[in-house]
This record gives sequence, structure tokens and C-alpha cells, in this order.
Amino acid sequence: MNGTLYLVSMPIGNLSDITHRAIDVLKSVDFILAEDTRTSQRVLTHYGISTPFFSSVYQGAERQRVPSILSLLEKGKNVALVSDAGTPLISDPGFPLVRATVDAGYQVVPVPGPCAAIAGLVASGLPLDRFCFEGALPRGRGARQSLFESLTARQGTCVFYESSHRILESLKLLSESLPTRRVVLARELTKIHEEFLRGTATELCTLLAGSDRIRGEFVLILEGAEISATTDQEVVEQLLCELKAEGLPNKSIVRIVTQVLGMPRNEAYRLVHREGDVVT
Ligand code: SAM
Repeated sequence: MNGTLYLVSMPIGNLSDITHRAIDVLKSVDFILAEDTRTSQRVLTHYGISTPFFSSVYQGAERQRVPSILSLLEKGKNVALVSDAGTPLISDPGFPLVRATVDAGYQVVPVPGPCAAIAGLVASGLPLDRFCFEGALPRGRGARQSLFESLTARQGTCVFYESSHRILESLKLLSESLPTRRVVLARELTKIHEEFLRGTATELCTLLAGSDRIRGEFVLILEGAEISATTDQEVVEQLLCELKAEGLPNKSIVRIVTQVLGMPRNEAYRLVHREGDVVT
């Protein structure tokens, strides 16, 4: 009989956040695949788990490990994949392995537990009926700016992972692209200094600037676009007319229309540049 690949969620700060089942599985499998064996060892030692590591599957080494892990499963060995924190594959290595295991016809079993995105989201106070996990924000300033602008009309709450080095800059970019949206920063979840900071991006910039809170780990949660007035053609036409009459350049009109009405940027651009209208 072939072995099973278990995907085991680990704590995201508080060592007590691990399920009984996770401990049982980690004790019973033949091998543990860790993102970083030193980080996982601390948790394993805490719970008296002495299962050997097979190898580490840090980002970059994942693909080359796949054949040897598949051959373990073929020989009937059970293996558990863990990441440094939280749920494997969620902004963490593991996808190539899971895909290959599924394709090879072996069993993949999740052992659910902590995930920073979900922990932050459920306590954010923002609507949860619909949400989108966007993973880690891009490092480049331009890429982050384009991403935020592309969310102008996106309904549903958005969740991002962001590093402490870039959090302030990301809030500044957000305050330019989506100034009226509610933002929640879930900081140091499950740890001693856990806190939720709520406000607009501008308010949060002010709160964080120069404070020692720009440390630790962050989940950034962004309110979705309101079901907007973009369907109300009369409102759109009136706003366009008034902005044009003020002599504003088209670029500014597009920006205002996308921000105020939550209209997709390309739609606003089309309206502002349509034939027959005065182009400035
Ligand atoms: N697999 C993990 C999970 O299930 O949440 C995420 C790993 S990802 C490489 C690391 C990012 O998750 C951090 O940069 C931070 O944005 C977020 N994160 C992890 N632990 C956190 C915590 N305790 N509090 C806030 N954010 C956290």
C-alpha cells in the first residue's frame, strides 16, 4: 500500500496552537518534511516528537525534492509536510509536491490548524461573506501601487501578507489609491504583543509612523469596494461633466471617478476619452 502525504498546520506564534491530531500525525509518520528543520525542531521538541526529518523543502529546493518524496510514498512510507509557521502552501512551499502527489494518485490529507490570514480576517471586523487572499504583497513599489489600483472596484475583503520593512510604505500607497477604505492591520497574531490596528490607511500611517509598532509580523486586511453608484448612469455623467467643467486633466478625472465611484479604471478611462467629449 502506498503512503500518505499529510499537510500539517503548525503554530503561528503561540506554541499551544497545535491540534491533538497534528501531534498524533507528526508522531506516527515515518518522516517529516520541514521548510526549515531548525525552526520546526523547536515545536517538535516541545511536544516530545522524535520523528526524523527527511529533508527540508525550503522555497527553491522544493522541485528537486519531489522525486525522492514520491519514491517514499510509493514504498508505503507516510510523510508529513510542515512549514515554519501556519499552514503549508499558504505563502509557503509545498505546491509542486502536492500537485505531483495528486498526479501520482497518492493520498494527500490536510491536518488543519493555524493560518495567519484566517486568524486576522475573522477578528478584523470586516465582512467575511466574501474575501480574497492575495498572499504576500509584491516587493516593488510600482507593482504594489498597480495592485492597489486594480482593487478599486473589487468587492469583498482582501487579505495580504506584508513585512515590517514595507508596511509603512504600503499604507502610504494605499492611502493614495484607496483613501476612504477601512484597513485593519493584524500584528503579531497569537503572540504577547498581538494587536489589531483599525482605520483608513492614512490614519494607520499616522499611528505607526515613528512608533515601535513597525516590528513583527503583519496581516493587512482591506475592506472591499462598496456596491457602487457606477450603475447609476446619471450620477456618472454628472460627475464627469462637473470635473471637465473644472478644467481638470483627463488623468485626474479618471483617478477621481475610479476612487469615488469604485468604477474599474479601464471603464472610467473609456468614458472620459469617449468621442464627442472635450479632451483636455
Ligand atoms: N503559512 C503561513 C500561514 O499559514 O499563515 C504564512 C507564511 S508567510 C511566509 C509569513 C507571513 O505570514 C508573514 O510575513 C506575515 O505577513 C504572516 N504571518 C505569519 N505569522 C503571523 C503572525 N503571528 N501575525 C501576523 N502575521 C503573521
